[in-house]
Amino acid sequence: MTRIETLEPEFAEKIKLLIKATEMATQLKWIITSGRRTMAEQLKLYEQGRTAPGKVVTNARPGSSAHNFGLAADLAPMRRDGRIWWEAPKSVWQKMADLAREMGMVSGFYFKTIYDAPHVEDAGWKTVQAKWKAGEIHVS
Ligand SMILES: [Zn+2]
Repeated sequence: MTRIETLEPEFAEKIKLLIKATEMATQLKWIITSGRRTMAEQLKLYEQGRTAPGKVVTNARPGSSAHNFGLAADLAPMRRDGRIWWEAPKSVWQKMADLAREMGMVSGFYFKTIYDAPHVEDAGWKTVQAKWKAGEIHVS
């Protein structure tokens, strides 16, 4: 399964359009570096830098990230040599963030708590989270 296929269908369509528009605007190839994360995967990530080795990469416990509901994706530009261009200038990330905003999504570029430029999430994901908390839907 590709990363785009792990996302909720409607959100996946938006991400496809966002990638196309961002590639046009930046003249770079963009890829999805993270799609849906299971609760177990989120727990493992949360433990990193806390009870497990490594540095802290997230403040989100299982169920607290839009990734757990297939409603977030992390996007990154590629360098000409085919490697991910994590060090791309802010202006490059901002182009993607602004296009995401225009399409009604929320970008981690503008998060006040942590700067998370690759992150894009569905504006309505907390409605799905509330259903999960209420036991109305099952999320693995
Ligand atoms: Zn993310």
